[in-house]
Amino acid sequence: MLLNLTILPGDGIGPEVTEQAILVLQAVADAFGHQLQLQHKNIGGAALAATNDPLPPETLQACLASSAVLLGAVGSPAYDHYPNHLRPEAGLLRLRRELGAYANLRPAICFPALEDCSPLRPELVRGTDILFVRELLGGLYFGEPRSIQGAPGSRVATNTMTYAEPAIERIARVAFELAMKRRQKVLSVDKANVLECSRLWREVVTRCAKDYPGVQLSHMYVDSAAMSLVQRPKDFDVVLTENMFGDILSDQAGGVVGSLGLLASASIGGPIGVYEPVHGSAPDIAGKGIANPLGAILSAAMLLRHSFQLDREAACIEGAVGDVLNRGYRTADLAGDCQKATTTSEMGQNAVQAMKKLASAAKRKLA
Ligand code: NAD
Repeated sequence: MLLNLTILPGDGIGPEVTEQAILVLQAVADAFGHQLQLQHKNIGGAALAATNDPLPPETLQACLASSAVLLGAVGSPAYDHYPNHLRPEAGLLRLRRELGAYANLRPAICFPALEDCSPLRPELVRGTDILFVRELLGGLYFGEPRSIQGAPGSRVATNTMTYAEPAIERIARVAFELAMKRRQKVLSVDKANVLECSRLWREVVTRCAKDYPGVQLSHMYVDSAAMSLVQRPKDFDVVLTENMFGDILSDQAGGVVGSLGLLASASIGGPIGVYEPVHGSAPDIAGKGIANPLGAILSAAMLLRHSFQLDREAACIEGAVGDVLNRGYRTADLAGDCQKATTTSEMGQNAVQAMKKLASAAKRKLA
Protein backbone atom coordinates (compact mmCIF):
# COMPACT_ATOMS: atom_id res chain seq x y z
CA MET A 1 0.00 0.00 0.00
CA LEU A 2 1.15 3.57 -0.66
CA LEU A 3 1.37 5.49 2.63
CA ASN A 4 1.29 9.07 1.44
CA LEU A 5 1.86 11.27 4.50
CA THR A 6 2.46 14.91 5.30
CA ILE A 7 4.88 15.31 8.19
CA LEU A 8 4.58 18.45 10.33
CA PRO A 9 7.39 18.28 12.93
CA GLY A 10 6.54 21.70 14.40
CA ASP A 11 8.39 23.17 17.36
CA GLY A 12 10.42 22.27 20.45
CA ILE A 13 10.57 18.51 20.94
CA GLY A 14 8.15 18.03 18.01
CA PRO A 15 10.93 17.38 15.42
CA GLU A 16 12.86 15.14 17.87
CA VAL A 17 9.98 12.76 18.59
CA THR A 18 8.62 12.85 15.03
CA GLU A 19 11.99 11.70 13.68
CA GLN A 20 11.75 8.56 15.81
CA ALA A 21 8.15 7.92 14.79
CA ILE A 22 9.19 8.11 11.12
CA LEU A 23 12.00 5.58 11.67
CA VAL A 24 9.46 3.19 13.15
CA LEU A 25 7.00 3.84 10.30
CA GLN A 26 9.74 3.22 7.73
CA ALA A 27 10.68 -0.05 9.43
CA VAL A 28 7.06 -1.21 9.55
CA ALA A 29 6.57 -0.27 5.90
CA ASP A 30 9.71 -2.22 4.91
CA ALA A 31 8.67 -5.23 6.97
CA PHE A 32 5.15 -5.42 5.52
CA GLY A 33 5.88 -4.31 1.95
CA HIS A 34 4.31 -0.83 2.00
CA GLN A 35 5.69 2.26 0.31
CA LEU A 36 6.18 5.30 2.52
CA GLN A 37 5.93 8.65 0.72
CA LEU A 38 6.66 11.63 2.97
CA GLN A 39 6.43 15.35 2.52
CA HIS A 40 7.78 17.57 5.31
CA LYS A 41 6.14 20.97 5.88
CA ASN A 42 6.23 23.75 8.47
CA ILE A 43 3.58 24.50 11.06
CA GLY A 44 3.42 26.58 14.25
CA GLY A 45 6.47 28.57 15.32
CA ALA A 46 8.61 27.00 12.58
CA ALA A 47 6.14 28.27 9.97
CA LEU A 48 5.86 31.70 11.62
CA ALA A 49 9.64 32.04 11.48
CA ALA A 50 9.69 31.08 7.79
CA THR A 51 6.55 32.79 6.46
CA ASN A 52 4.87 34.76 9.26
CA ASP A 53 1.89 32.40 9.06
CA PRO A 54 1.45 29.48 11.53
CA LEU A 55 -0.35 27.45 8.83
CA PRO A 56 1.00 28.52 5.41
CA PRO A 57 -1.19 27.69 2.39
CA GLU A 58 1.54 25.34 1.12
CA THR A 59 1.32 23.29 4.33
CA LEU A 60 -2.46 23.09 4.19
CA GLN A 61 -2.41 22.09 0.53
CA ALA A 62 0.13 19.33 1.21
CA CYS A 63 -2.07 18.00 4.05
CA LEU A 64 -5.17 18.06 1.85
CA ALA A 65 -3.31 16.17 -0.89
CA SER A 66 -2.05 13.40 1.42
CA SER A 67 -3.78 10.45 3.07
CA ALA A 68 -2.85 11.34 6.65
CA VAL A 69 -0.87 13.88 8.67
CA LEU A 70 1.72 13.09 11.34
CA LEU A 71 2.40 16.08 13.57
CA GLY A 72 4.95 16.68 16.35
CA ALA A 73 3.90 19.64 18.50
CA VAL A 74 3.55 23.40 18.19
CA GLY A 75 4.33 26.22 20.60
CA SER A 76 7.21 28.39 21.61
CA PRO A 77 7.65 31.00 24.34
CA ALA A 78 9.06 33.29 21.62
CA TYR A 79 5.49 33.85 20.38
CA ASP A 80 3.75 34.24 23.76
CA HIS A 81 3.26 38.00 23.25
CA TYR A 82 1.96 37.66 19.65
CA PRO A 83 -1.72 38.29 18.80
CA ASN A 84 -3.89 35.20 18.79
CA HIS A 85 -3.93 34.60 15.02
CA LEU A 86 -0.12 34.82 14.92
CA ARG A 87 0.57 32.25 17.62
CA PRO A 88 1.79 28.73 16.81
CA GLU A 89 -1.31 27.18 18.38
CA ALA A 90 -3.56 29.09 15.94
CA GLY A 91 -1.97 27.09 13.09
CA LEU A 92 -2.88 23.79 14.73
CA LEU A 93 -6.46 24.86 15.47
CA ARG A 94 -6.90 26.02 11.87
CA LEU A 95 -5.48 22.76 10.55
CA ARG A 96 -7.95 20.73 12.62
CA ARG A 97 -10.83 22.89 11.40
CA GLU A 98 -9.75 22.82 7.73
CA LEU A 99 -9.46 19.02 7.86
CA GLY A 100 -12.80 18.64 9.67
CA ALA A 101 -11.11 16.65 12.43
CA TYR A 102 -13.84 16.87 15.06
CA ALA A 103 -13.11 13.68 17.00
CA ASN A 104 -9.96 13.51 19.07
CA LEU A 105 -9.22 10.01 20.39
CA ARG A 106 -6.72 9.89 23.24
CA PRO A 107 -6.02 6.48 24.76
CA ALA A 108 -4.43 6.42 28.24
CA ILE A 109 -3.15 2.95 29.05
CA CYS A 110 -1.07 1.80 31.99
CA PHE A 111 1.64 -0.45 30.54
CA PRO A 112 2.28 -3.30 33.02
CA ALA A 113 6.01 -2.46 33.06
CA LEU A 114 5.23 1.12 34.11
CA GLU A 115 2.97 0.48 37.11
CA ASP A 116 5.73 1.81 39.35
CA CYS A 117 6.13 5.01 37.29
CA SER A 118 2.72 6.33 38.27
CA PRO A 119 2.54 8.70 41.23
CA LEU A 120 -0.41 6.51 42.30
CA ARG A 121 -0.03 3.17 44.07
CA PRO A 122 0.46 0.31 41.55
CA GLU A 123 -2.74 -1.43 42.65
CA LEU A 124 -4.72 1.73 41.83
CA VAL A 125 -3.31 2.28 38.36
CA ARG A 126 -2.88 -1.38 37.30
CA GLY A 127 -5.21 -2.23 34.42
CA THR A 128 -6.06 1.39 33.55
CA ASP A 129 -7.28 1.56 29.95
CA ILE A 130 -9.17 4.75 29.14
CA LEU A 131 -10.18 6.17 25.79
CA PHE A 132 -10.89 9.89 25.85
CA VAL A 133 -13.20 11.00 23.05
CA ARG A 134 -12.77 14.76 22.99
CA GLU A 135 -14.84 17.09 20.81
CA LEU A 136 -12.21 19.03 18.87
CA LEU A 137 -13.86 21.75 16.78
CA GLY A 138 -16.15 23.50 19.25
CA GLY A 139 -16.31 25.07 22.68
CA LEU A 140 -14.09 27.84 23.97
CA TYR A 141 -11.24 27.19 21.55
CA PHE A 142 -13.31 28.19 18.52
CA GLY A 143 -16.24 30.22 19.91
CA GLU A 144 -16.82 33.80 18.74
CA PRO A 145 -16.70 36.54 19.90
CA ARG A 146 -13.27 36.40 21.48
CA SER A 147 -11.21 39.43 22.38
CA ILE A 148 -9.27 41.50 24.88
CA GLN A 149 -10.61 45.05 24.78
CA GLY A 150 -10.17 48.31 26.62
CA ALA A 151 -7.39 50.41 28.05
CA PRO A 152 -4.63 48.85 30.16
CA GLY A 153 -5.85 48.55 33.72
CA SER A 154 -9.51 48.20 32.74
CA ARG A 155 -9.30 45.65 29.92
CA VAL A 156 -11.98 43.00 29.50
CA ALA A 157 -11.28 39.56 28.03
CA THR A 158 -14.01 37.51 26.37
CA ASN A 159 -14.21 33.93 25.16
CA THR A 160 -17.35 32.18 24.06
CA MET A 161 -18.41 28.59 24.62
CA THR A 162 -20.90 27.42 22.02
CA TYR A 163 -22.18 23.96 21.18
CA ALA A 164 -24.82 23.12 18.60
CA GLU A 165 -26.84 19.90 18.81
CA PRO A 166 -25.41 18.33 15.61
CA ALA A 167 -21.83 18.85 16.88
CA ILE A 168 -22.69 17.13 20.17
CA GLU A 169 -24.54 14.32 18.47
CA ARG A 170 -21.76 13.44 16.01
CA ILE A 171 -19.08 13.19 18.72
CA ALA A 172 -21.43 11.26 21.01
CA ARG A 173 -21.99 8.70 18.25
CA VAL A 174 -18.21 8.29 17.83
CA ALA A 175 -17.93 7.54 21.56
CA PHE A 176 -20.82 5.05 21.58
CA GLU A 177 -19.51 3.22 18.50
CA LEU A 178 -16.04 2.91 20.04
CA ALA A 179 -17.48 1.80 23.39
CA MET A 180 -19.24 -1.11 21.67
CA LYS A 181 -15.79 -2.48 20.72
CA ARG A 182 -14.51 -2.03 24.30
CA ARG A 183 -16.13 -2.50 27.73
CA GLN A 184 -19.45 -0.91 26.65
CA LYS A 185 -19.27 2.02 29.06
CA VAL A 186 -19.45 5.72 28.21
CA LEU A 187 -18.92 8.37 30.85
CA SER A 188 -20.02 11.78 29.59
CA VAL A 189 -18.23 14.60 31.42
CA ASP A 190 -19.77 18.06 31.60
CA LYS A 191 -20.55 20.94 33.98
CA ALA A 192 -24.32 20.80 33.62
CA ASN A 193 -24.90 22.26 37.09
CA VAL A 194 -23.50 25.59 35.85
CA LEU A 195 -23.21 25.78 32.05
CA GLU A 196 -25.99 25.88 29.43
CA CYS A 197 -23.63 24.24 26.92
CA SER A 198 -23.27 21.31 29.29
CA ARG A 199 -27.02 21.03 29.85
CA LEU A 200 -27.59 20.74 26.12
CA TRP A 201 -24.63 18.35 25.92
CA ARG A 202 -26.13 16.07 28.56
CA GLU A 203 -29.58 16.09 26.93
CA VAL A 204 -28.25 15.25 23.45
CA VAL A 205 -25.87 12.53 24.72
CA THR A 206 -28.70 10.93 26.72
CA ARG A 207 -30.93 10.96 23.62
CA CYS A 208 -28.20 9.36 21.46
CA ALA A 209 -27.61 6.65 24.06
CA LYS A 210 -31.07 5.20 23.26
CA ASP A 211 -29.64 4.00 19.92
CA TYR A 212 -26.93 2.02 21.76
CA PRO A 213 -28.82 -0.09 24.31
CA GLY A 214 -25.78 -2.30 24.93
CA VAL A 215 -23.71 0.64 26.14
CA GLN A 216 -24.02 1.86 29.71
CA LEU A 217 -24.05 5.67 29.86
CA SER A 218 -23.24 7.68 32.97
CA HIS A 219 -22.67 11.40 33.55
CA MET A 220 -20.26 13.23 35.80
CA TYR A 221 -19.36 16.86 36.43
CA VAL A 222 -15.85 17.68 35.30
CA ASP A 223 -14.60 18.59 38.77
CA SER A 224 -15.80 15.28 40.16
CA ALA A 225 -14.36 13.42 37.15
CA ALA A 226 -10.94 14.98 37.80
CA MET A 227 -11.00 13.62 41.33
CA SER A 228 -12.27 10.16 40.35
CA LEU A 229 -9.60 9.89 37.68
CA VAL A 230 -6.91 9.75 40.35
CA GLN A 231 -8.98 7.81 42.89
CA ARG A 232 -10.08 4.95 40.62
CA PRO A 233 -8.68 5.33 37.08
CA LYS A 234 -9.35 1.74 36.09
CA ASP A 235 -13.13 2.24 36.40
CA PHE A 236 -13.05 4.55 33.36
CA ASP A 237 -13.64 3.12 29.88
CA VAL A 238 -14.71 5.66 27.21
CA VAL A 239 -14.78 9.27 28.44
CA LEU A 240 -16.81 11.55 26.19
CA THR A 241 -16.32 15.26 26.70
CA GLU A 242 -16.09 18.71 25.14
CA ASN A 243 -12.96 20.38 23.84
CA MET A 244 -11.37 22.03 26.89
CA PHE A 245 -12.44 19.47 29.50
CA GLY A 246 -10.96 16.73 27.27
CA ASP A 247 -7.71 18.65 26.86
CA ILE A 248 -7.26 18.95 30.61
CA LEU A 249 -8.45 15.52 31.72
CA SER A 250 -6.33 13.68 29.14
CA ASP A 251 -3.15 15.43 30.32
CA GLN A 252 -4.10 14.44 33.85
CA ALA A 253 -4.47 10.85 32.66
CA GLY A 254 -0.93 11.11 31.25
CA GLY A 255 0.29 11.84 34.76
CA VAL A 256 -1.75 8.93 36.11
CA VAL A 257 -0.20 6.37 33.74
CA GLY A 258 3.36 7.64 34.26
CA SER A 259 4.11 10.39 31.76
CA LEU A 260 2.45 12.72 29.32
CA GLY A 261 5.15 11.63 26.87
CA LEU A 262 3.44 8.24 26.51
CA LEU A 263 0.11 9.48 25.19
CA ALA A 264 -0.84 9.32 21.51
CA SER A 265 -3.80 10.82 19.71
CA ALA A 266 -5.83 10.63 16.53
CA SER A 267 -7.91 13.58 15.30
CA ILE A 268 -10.42 12.12 12.87
CA GLY A 269 -13.89 12.63 11.42
CA GLY A 270 -12.91 14.50 8.26
CA PRO A 271 -11.35 13.10 5.08
CA ILE A 272 -7.78 13.28 6.42
CA GLY A 273 -6.73 12.33 9.94
CA VAL A 274 -4.12 14.17 12.02
CA TYR A 275 -2.01 12.06 14.37
CA GLU A 276 0.09 13.61 17.10
CA PRO A 277 1.31 12.95 20.61
CA VAL A 278 -0.84 14.57 23.29
CA HIS A 279 2.05 16.56 24.73
CA GLY A 280 3.16 20.03 23.62
CA SER A 281 6.50 21.34 22.44
CA ALA A 282 8.05 21.05 25.94
CA PRO A 283 10.48 23.99 25.60
CA ASP A 284 12.01 23.06 28.97
CA ILE A 285 13.57 19.89 27.51
CA ALA A 286 13.77 20.73 23.78
CA GLY A 287 17.13 20.15 22.10
CA LYS A 288 18.45 17.95 24.89
CA GLY A 289 17.69 14.61 23.25
CA ILE A 290 15.79 13.39 26.30
CA ALA A 291 12.13 13.64 25.19
CA ASN A 292 10.06 10.50 25.32
CA PRO A 293 9.20 9.57 21.71
CA LEU A 294 6.70 6.82 22.60
CA GLY A 295 3.64 9.08 22.36
CA ALA A 296 4.70 10.03 18.82
CA ILE A 297 5.49 6.40 17.94
CA LEU A 298 2.09 5.26 19.26
CA SER A 299 0.49 8.08 17.23
CA ALA A 300 2.06 6.50 14.14
CA ALA A 301 0.34 3.23 15.12
CA MET A 302 -2.99 5.08 15.39
CA LEU A 303 -2.34 6.55 11.93
CA LEU A 304 -1.90 3.09 10.40
CA ARG A 305 -5.04 1.80 12.12
CA HIS A 306 -7.42 4.70 11.52
CA SER A 307 -6.30 6.09 8.15
CA PHE A 308 -5.16 2.86 6.45
CA GLN A 309 -6.94 0.07 8.38
CA LEU A 310 -3.53 -1.61 8.84
CA ASP A 311 -4.40 -3.23 12.18
CA ARG A 312 -1.65 -5.85 12.06
CA GLU A 313 1.05 -3.22 11.44
CA ALA A 314 -0.37 -0.95 14.17
CA ALA A 315 -0.43 -3.84 16.63
CA CYS A 316 3.21 -4.55 15.79
CA ILE A 317 4.21 -1.00 16.77
CA GLU A 318 2.16 -1.17 19.96
CA GLY A 319 3.71 -4.54 20.79
CA ALA A 320 7.19 -3.10 20.20
CA VAL A 321 6.51 -0.25 22.63
CA GLY A 322 5.35 -2.75 25.28
CA ASP A 323 8.46 -4.80 24.57
CA VAL A 324 11.01 -1.99 25.03
CA LEU A 325 9.31 -1.00 28.27
CA ASN A 326 9.31 -4.62 29.48
CA ARG A 327 13.04 -4.73 28.77
CA GLY A 328 13.52 -1.79 31.13
CA TYR A 329 14.26 1.08 28.74
CA ARG A 330 13.12 4.39 30.22
CA THR A 331 13.49 7.97 28.97
CA ALA A 332 14.24 10.59 31.66
CA ASP A 333 10.53 11.27 32.35
CA LEU A 334 10.08 7.62 33.37
CA ALA A 335 13.49 6.71 34.81
CA GLY A 336 13.85 6.66 38.58
CA ASP A 337 16.68 8.50 40.33
CA CYS A 338 18.98 5.45 40.31
CA GLN A 339 18.18 4.42 36.74
CA LYS A 340 20.17 5.29 33.62
CA ALA A 341 17.89 7.15 31.21
CA THR A 342 17.56 6.15 27.57
CA THR A 343 17.85 9.03 25.08
CA THR A 344 15.14 9.91 22.57
CA SER A 345 17.02 8.31 19.67
CA GLU A 346 18.01 5.18 21.66
CA MET A 347 14.35 4.68 22.54
CA GLY A 348 13.41 5.03 18.87
CA GLN A 349 16.11 2.57 17.76
CA ASN A 350 15.02 0.06 20.41
CA ALA A 351 11.43 0.36 19.22
CA VAL A 352 12.55 -0.23 15.61
CA GLN A 353 14.48 -3.38 16.60
CA ALA A 354 11.58 -4.72 18.68
CA MET A 355 9.17 -3.95 15.86
CA LYS A 356 11.29 -5.83 13.30
CA LYS A 357 11.32 -8.93 15.52
CA LEU A 358 7.56 -8.79 16.03
CA ALA A 359 6.96 -8.24 12.31
CA SER A 360 9.09 -11.31 11.40
CA ALA A 361 7.20 -13.40 13.97
CA ALA A 362 3.84 -12.16 12.62
CA LYS A 363 4.87 -13.03 9.06
CA ARG A 364 6.17 -16.49 10.07
CA LYS A 365 2.81 -17.15 11.71
CA LEU A 366 1.02 -16.25 8.49
CA ALA A 367 3.33 -18.34 6.25
P1 NAD B 1 3.98 20.36 27.34
O1 NAD B 1 3.11 19.20 27.04
O2 NAD B 1 4.85 20.82 26.25
O3 NAD B 1 4.92 20.01 28.61
C1 NAD B 1 4.38 19.75 29.91
C2 NAD B 1 5.46 19.02 30.73
O4 NAD B 1 5.57 17.68 30.25
C3 NAD B 1 6.84 19.64 30.60
O5 NAD B 1 7.51 19.54 31.84
C4 NAD B 1 7.53 18.78 29.59
O6 NAD B 1 8.93 18.70 29.72
C5 NAD B 1 6.89 17.41 29.83
N1 NAD B 1 6.81 16.63 28.58
C6 NAD B 1 5.98 16.86 27.56
N2 NAD B 1 6.20 15.99 26.58
C7 NAD B 1 7.20 15.19 26.98
C8 NAD B 1 7.89 14.10 26.39
N3 NAD B 1 7.58 13.64 25.17
N4 NAD B 1 8.89 13.53 27.09
C9 NAD B 1 9.21 13.96 28.32
N5 NAD B 1 8.60 14.98 28.94
C10 NAD B 1 7.60 15.60 28.27
O7 NAD B 1 3.03 21.52 27.84
P2 NAD B 1 3.37 23.04 28.22
O8 NAD B 1 4.74 23.13 28.82
O9 NAD B 1 2.21 23.49 28.97
O10 NAD B 1 3.36 23.81 26.82
C11 NAD B 1 4.53 24.08 26.05
C12 NAD B 1 4.11 24.59 24.68
O11 NAD B 1 3.45 23.55 23.96
C13 NAD B 1 3.12 25.77 24.74
O12 NAD B 1 3.49 26.68 23.73
C14 NAD B 1 1.79 25.13 24.44
O13 NAD B 1 0.87 26.02 23.85
C15 NAD B 1 2.19 24.04 23.47
N6 NAD B 1 1.26 22.90 23.39
C16 NAD B 1 1.10 22.37 22.15
C17 NAD B 1 0.32 21.22 22.01
C18 NAD B 1 0.22 20.61 20.64
O14 NAD B 1 1.03 20.89 19.78
N7 NAD B 1 -0.76 19.74 20.40
C19 NAD B 1 -0.29 20.63 23.12
C20 NAD B 1 -0.06 21.20 24.37
C21 NAD B 1 0.74 22.33 24.50
